[in-house]
Amino acid sequence: MHWHTHTVFNQPTPLSNSNLFLSDCALRDAVGREGAEWDTDLLASIGQQLGTAESLELGRLANGNPPELLRYSVTGERLDDVRFHPAWHLLMQGLCANRVHNLAWEDHARKGAFVARAARFILHAQVEAGTLCPVTMTFAATPLLQQTLPKPFHEWLSPLLSDRYDPHFAPGGQKRGILIGMGMTEKQGGSDVLSNTTRAEKCNDGSYRLVGHKWFFSVPQSDAHLVLAQAKGGLSCFFVPRFLPDGQRNAVRLERLKEKLGNRSNASSEVEFLDASGWLLGEEGEGVRQILRMGGLTRFDCALGSHGLMRRALSVALYHAHQRQTFGKNLIDQPLMRDVLSRMALMLEGQTALLFRLARAWDRRDDVEEAALARLFTPAAKYSVCKAGIPFVAEAMEVLGGIGYCEESELPRLYREMPVNSIWEGSGNIMCLDVLRVLAKQPGILDLLTDDFAQVKGQDRHFDRSWRQLQQKLRKPQEAQGREITQQLFLLGTGGQMLRHASPPMAQAWCRMMLDTRGGSLMSEQLQHDVLLRATGRVG
Ligand SMILES: Cc1cc2nc3c(=O)[nH]c(=O)nc-3n(C[C@H](O)[C@H](O)[C@H](O)COP(=O)(O)OP(=O)(O)OC[C@H]3O[C@@H](n4cnc5c(N)ncnc54)[C@H](O)[C@@H]3O)c2cc1C
Repeated sequence: MHWHTHTVFNQPTPLSNSNLFLSDCALRDAVGREGAEWDTDLLASIGQQLGTAESLELGRLANGNPPELLRYSVTGERLDDVRFHPAWHLLMQGLCANRVHNLAWEDHARKGAFVARAARFILHAQVEAGTLCPVTMTFAATPLLQQTLPKPFHEWLSPLLSDRYDPHFAPGGQKRGILIGMGMTEKQGGSDVLSNTTRAEKCNDGSYRLVGHKWFFSVPQSDAHLVLAQAKGGLSCFFVPRFLPDGQRNAVRLERLKEKLGNRSNASSEVEFLDASGWLLGEEGEGVRQILRMGGLTRFDCALGSHGLMRRALSVALYHAHQRQTFGKNLIDQPLMRDVLSRMALMLEGQTALLFRLARAWDRRDDVEEAALARLFTPAAKYSVCKAGIPFVAEAMEVLGGIGYCEESELPRLYREMPVNSIWEGSGNIMCLDVLRVLAKQPGILDLLTDDFAQVKGQDRHFDRSWRQLQQKLRKPQEAQGREITQQLFLLGTGGQMLRHASPPMAQAWCRMMLDTRGGSLMSEQLQHDVLLRATGRVG
């Protein structure tokens, strides 16, 4: 472009019209290896569609035009609704059409459905992560609802399992698709849900009246929320619909929407229950157990979501580095930048391998050992992946230099989005305490780990040393070591997958980089070449 004053050159174009699935060799390999080969054609088509300039623009619009609280109607009646930008609805439509909210729960769900869904989730995360909140809560709530949905709402099961997104302001039973939210956190405590003060009193017809509040109540436009409240028998889980069976609005008042650092396309509200109607799910006093069961699923999604954001940040950084020249060379060919980008790509190779092994464990959770692996590595992955995402995106930003810090580069949006996955659904320390709890209480878990790691023993000295160190720590684990233990466990789990499935030079480089306490060493030029090829979708 020629202006009067200067010629514009050496300005990379933004990354658009790439296939988000085909450009990620680690993801393609993992999907096939862990049992969802059958989904690869569809994933390629989803990846193509989501990577278009039009899809990315929808993400930008949804994030740049946050939802608006409509507390009253124009005639002054209580409305308690939320208005979204049309881009939000289009993105939600895509998520539901791709069954990210229910793929694993259909009657005849295919083997590997968890794996396929994890891949779809990661692809959607790269467009606008705010939309993942409603689908992850709906996904996690569905198995419980399939078992316990109260009688007056039985006709809701069909829209719950449909592939439709239906934002109409109408009772769930009349809709083609529904969404479910969750309300646990109150002002006085979120991690410690036992401190909940919302009360639930049983009525003659078997329903309950809820009085109290929730301090965080995301997706308030959901057709129902699963809400924790104190009943006579203890903390219990209630189905609190937006509309009552007689078509009236339930007495759930939206007080305000949170003004958040990121996650801006998604609505998170504060609510009060003014004698709201709720229906008990399961038995009184089972609330914590039920929430924890759902928590496993939402926590896994947090790790997938952060991984998707990291993947997008890396793609943008790589695309830029291939075009931008400094000191007479493309950035990607400057040895120091090549090292930075190769390490980032290698880190994501490991994450992908572990996350998809974990997806397979979730898929096969009827097997005791697979269920135990999922139980242990889900909080570990949530802790480690979500924490790692924050500096990772900052590094990607720096690859772009000044423009990386500016909104048009996508990276500020990814950066603002990142910390939330570490905070909600159980913040970092809570994940580490959970890992310690599983290690202490899950029968046979240490034997399972030992057997699993024994399969790769002797292949890499950093891996072997790190496992010996962890075994020592596990003899008498201290609560204050929770982060150290969780991180090391995650890295060993990941290293084990790399040693099994990556090429030996790549697996060993990963172990040096992540497990060598002296900080690892340089990768060979050939390995850098291979890693970077794989990260851009060409085989390495
Ligand atoms: C954008 C957003 C949306 C949300 N949406 C929802 C929603 O829809 N529904 C819902 O129920 N909640 C929601 N939350 C709330 C979220 O789940 C809680 O904020 C989170 O669980 C932490 O609870 P808290 O804020 O009360 O912090 P606290 O419980 O006070 O914890 C503060 C810090 O202390 C740490 N900590 C707590 N106990 C210990 C301990 N024993 N040892 C060491 N460290 C400890 C925690 O890890 C955390 O870092 C949302 C939060 C955000 C940011």
